[in-house]
Amino acid sequence: MASPPDDEFMEKVADAVELSESEQVPARLKARLYSALVQQQVQTGPLMSLTEINARGHQLCVFEQLVQIAPVGERAKSLNICRVCHARVLAEHLDNPPIYWNGCPYVEFKKS
Ligand SMILES: [Zn+2]
Repeated sequence: MASPPDDEFMEKVADAVELSESEQVPARLKARLYSALVQQQVQTGPLMSLTEINARGHQLCVFEQLVQIAPVGERAKSLNICRVCHARVLAEHLDNPPIYWNGCPYVEFKKS
């Protein structure tokens, strides 16, 4: 497996890209980056559980809420639920995906 790029490399990339204020990063690119980053995080260990995320006051999407209240173990609650929700697929391909529920990062990207 390839090692992740170091900070210096990422800073050079960021300097080279430099977007002006009028330029917006397409929502579908944000969605793809988010998916890739979370997937990389999953490979290094379990994600924070939905119970803990909720306890810290962060909003969960409807699918995460269902899993969070379900009678399943904390291990199941540490999975990336949004990885399997259809919002991910739509958000990775469309800049204005027809998804509207709150709390899902894939829905939030089109608002930013
Ligand atoms: Zn979601």
